[in-house]
Amino acid sequence: MTSEQDRWSRVKSRLRSNVGEDVYTSWFARMDLEAVQDESVRLSVPTRFLKSWIQAHYAERVLSCWQAEMPEVHRIDLTVRSAVRPIAQPKEVAAPVEVRRMDGRPAQELRSTATAPVSATHDALGGSPLDPRLTFASFVVGRANTLAHAAARQVAEGRRGDPVMFNPLYIHAGVGLGKTHLLQAVTWAGNSGSERKVLYLTAEKFMYGFVAALKTQTALAFKEALRGIDVLVIDDLQFLQGKSTQAEFCHTLNALIDAGRQVVIAADRPPSDLESLDDRVRSRLAGGLVVEMGSLGEDLRLGILKSRVAAARAHHASFDVPEEVLTYLARTITHNGRDLEGAINRLLAHSKLNNQPVTLEMAEREVRDLIRPQEPKRIKIEDIQRVVARQYNVSRSDLLSSRRTANVVRPRQVAMYLAKTLTLRSLPEIGRRFGGRDHTTVLHAVRKIEALVSKDTALSEEVESLKRQLQE
Ligand code: ADP
Ligand code: MG
Repeated sequence: MTSEQDRWSRVKSRLRSNVGEDVYTSWFARMDLEAVQDESVRLSVPTRFLKSWIQAHYAERVLSCWQAEMPEVHRIDLTVRSAVRPIAQPKEVAAPVEVRRMDGRPAQELRSTATAPVSATHDALGGSPLDPRLTFASFVVGRANTLAHAAARQVAEGRRGDPVMFNPLYIHAGVGLGKTHLLQAVTWAGNSGSERKVLYLTAEKFMYGFVAALKTQTALAFKEALRGIDVLVIDDLQFLQGKSTQAEFCHTLNALIDAGRQVVIAADRPPSDLESLDDRVRSRLAGGLVVEMGSLGEDLRLGILKSRVAAARAHHASFDVPEEVLTYLARTITHNGRDLEGAINRLLAHSKLNNQPVTLEMAEREVRDLIRPQEPKRIKIEDIQRVVARQYNVSRSDLLSSRRTANVVRPRQVAMYLAKTLTLRSLPEIGRRFGGRDHTTVLHAVRKIEALVSKDTALSEEVESLKRQLQE
């Protein structure tokens, strides 16, 4: 069991270094190991969208990372786990899809054994399932989330017809920092007691609902029904894709906001970084209140652990975690809330199965793989511009300007090169962020610097030093 987990940790590290930190966090942070059996490994992800994305883009790499650890593995089954206990409606669990590679050929066969029929409007408007544990009562407030929490509370306490204070409320934060928890808390609070209709949808659900509605030609009914709600809560907006869905999202957003209905959105990045959305949507999103939730500080982590233990004790009265263990976990599991939850679940499972009290020694053993080295931080284009400008003694506006003097051109090219290599931003997006330049200009800059660093040691050292400053 433990060795299986160890192996899984190693596979994850391989994957992480293989695809890079950003890609890893976006697509694989929520992938769990379900089982290893003979030649096949079963992995799960929380949403259908993640499943299809990983299958379409990363199936081979996941398999080869496993093969590097376990050569006998020939198949990866990716399933959608029901992450939450459905309340409103039974959640369909998508059938596993196989990823195979035969005789080492790099061909991939993706076979969808069954596709659950989506019943158009009903399905979309039933909302995404809610987890009964994710309420305001169990949400711990700390420095990282005070503002987001206050704003969410305010929204949840509104009544039909009240003037809307900030619209949309847009919350962004990295994985596992409490976005879904907060959004579901708003939904629970809003739907209990008040006469308002609050609808919680993942962006994925919004997409599938809309696409399905279009197929069955009930798009009109879908739109009407969507517009008939008081609060629309959309989670993981970064996954919204496709032109027609976006256009529809844009209409819905405008219609709701103009009608004085509240919209609450969560995403893993600020509106300005949602590259695939068009400018009008972005500016509409940025026009309300945009709040970032920071990483969980140690106090907050301790609070979350305590709240988890208290919740577990409601069902397992004998379960107890000594203070020193909680302190240890809060100090060492720094990554995100999901790992904190995982740690408590493991201690609970272990102490129940073996009928043993939780001790520090047991905790150290059980959560070893959850303790990760400090994550490299996410680098922003603004940071790159700031650091480069400082290094070359020019201003940031020089970098964005159209000036072509040598003392600005080179730093600008270096900055664009760093933006391409250190972030996941596309060339057009980088061009846009550098004073509205064309993507070919960015490409030219990237190639130029690439060519230069291989011959010019001084420049290459400068670039390395800039990278270090940015990664600090
Ligand atoms: P996100 O949607 O931002 O990826 P989640 O809301 O799913 O993150 O949070 C991950 C886990 O951490 C959940 O179990 C959640 O309950 C817990 N968590 C995160 N922040 C808090 C908080 N402030 N209080 C209580 N639990 C939290
Ligand atoms: Mg979430």
